[in-house]
Amino acid sequence: MTLPAQTIQAAVDAAHASCKAVAGGANASYIPYLAKVPSSLFGVAVVTADGALYQAGDADAPFAIESISKVFTLALATELVGPDAIRLKIGVSPTGLPFNSVMALELHNGKPLSPLVNAGAIATASLVPGDDADACWARILDVQSRFAGRKIELSEEVNTSEQTTNFHNRAIGWLLCSAGACYSDPMRAVDVYTRQCSTLVTATDLATMGATLAAGGMNPRSKERVIAESNVSHILAEMTMEGLYTGSGEWAYTVGLPGKSGVGGGILAVAPGKLAIAAFSPPLDSAGNSVRGAAAVAHVAKSLQLNLYAAPRR
Ligand code: GLN
Repeated sequence: MTLPAQTIQAAVDAAHASCKAVAGGANASYIPYLAKVPSSLFGVAVVTADGALYQAGDADAPFAIESISKVFTLALATELVGPDAIRLKIGVSPTGLPFNSVMALELHNGKPLSPLVNAGAIATASLVPGDDADACWARILDVQSRFAGRKIELSEEVNTSEQTTNFHNRAIGWLLCSAGACYSDPMRAVDVYTRQCSTLVTATDLATMGATLAAGGMNPRSKERVIAESNVSHILAEMTMEGLYTGSGEWAYTVGLPGKSGVGGGILAVAPGKLAIAAFSPPLDSAGNSVRGAAAVAHVAKSLQLNLYAAPRR
């Protein structure tokens, strides 16, 4: 059943209008660049599995992709090494701990458990082949661009801000290495991971990237096949379990869609076979999820009755 265009636009407009008033949270400040982004920016976008676009507010404002990049590097690595290798080398379960937790590693013999926390994402980046960091990075940037259907670019300003402050992630890289869970030089993996977090996207890009997953791995706007359909369900399952970090359980319980957030204020949810919803608003809750963005995505999902765990309307 396809949703009428006016119904989707009305849901996007209503979510933007009613969530504008949602207050609370604060910009991430451990990455200096993110602290300076205007907190009032707020955009919502939906892209359907057949490529229609709906927008409200600052849907074309660029922001740092941050952790949402983990989804697309996971997609690339899954294409390259296969879903079983991801399960064995990284793990595919929730950690129940914050995204940059060292304790999560300590509790599991140095194994990251999930490709969507920092440790697992650094290990995932280490699985992407290339003669050097630049070659590996070129593949990751290319996959982000193919998911978005346009050339995505690195922000030198974001990257410098992160590369000069990412001591904690470097420590995670060395811990992975000592546990045999990093598959390239660990500092190269952290460098590449840090670059993948430093690209600029818009809510419209994120919705298109999510719609590529909703459409089974084919970008519905560019019509390019980006990943194999058989890999999509694994990625969406990971997003369900760890996409909003320690907020993932509540998100599944209340919204019922695979999602992914980033400390840049972006958030994405995918309704398989139907559409993707993205929002951008910088202030974050204590788990690192955009407060207003999560509210807006949840609002759209609810008004379009997209909860995967609800019986379909008869
Ligand atoms: N670049 C950030 C980091 O490594 C991404 C974290 C996030 O978005 N949750 O800490």
